[in-house]
Amino acid sequence: MHGHDCAHAAGGGVEVENLQALDVLMRPGVRACHHCDAAAIFGAVLQLGGGHA
Ligand SMILES: [Zn+2]
Repeated sequence: MHGHDCAHAAGGGVEVENLQALDVLMRPGVRACHHCDAAAIFGAVLQLGGGHA
């Protein structure tokens, strides 16, 4: 999982909306990229997601 402007995301990626991205991140083995904003953004969202939609 990458941010839109991450160099590591180049090629073969599927662009998804944020809610879809969250759903993807919930899947086993899927990790947010730490080279771009993905980890920061979705990490924060997932931590906040415990009971607060
Ligand atoms: Zn990335």
